[in-house]
Amino acid sequence: MTENFYPDLSPLKTGLAGKCPRCGKGNLFAGYLTVAKSCSNCELSYSFADSGDAAAWFVMLFACIFGVGSILGVEVAYSPPYWVHALIAIPTLIILPMALLRPLKGAFLAQQWKTGAQEGREVK
Ligand SMILES: [Zn+2]
Repeated sequence: MTENFYPDLSPLKTGLAGKCPRCGKGNLFAGYLTVAKSCSNCELSYSFADSGDAAAWFVMLFACIFGVGSILGVEVAYSPPYWVHALIAIPTLIILPMALLRPLKGAFLAQQWKTGAQEGREVK
């Protein structure tokens, strides 16, 4: 009888890296944000994966606070023309969320697997 024993991996590390929460080796994503059907290494089914809007919500929160804060800071400190704001703010408000969305979604999915969290259901 052979059993596979998997190390107790940090959901934050595996999720941020986009790796399988159980073995830490297979890819969690099949595309930019598309979750794979299962792990290519340990065959863990990713059918549990449903992070909902959590990652998008936190990315919007962080990007808005950082983006708007930096725009206001630049305006107060330097009062540059509007085209300078556009040159700084538009890439920041596009690139920052794109860079954060996948790692945060991975972290939420890995945490979901670790805790067994799932959508609430009515008990009959
Ligand atoms: Zn795996």
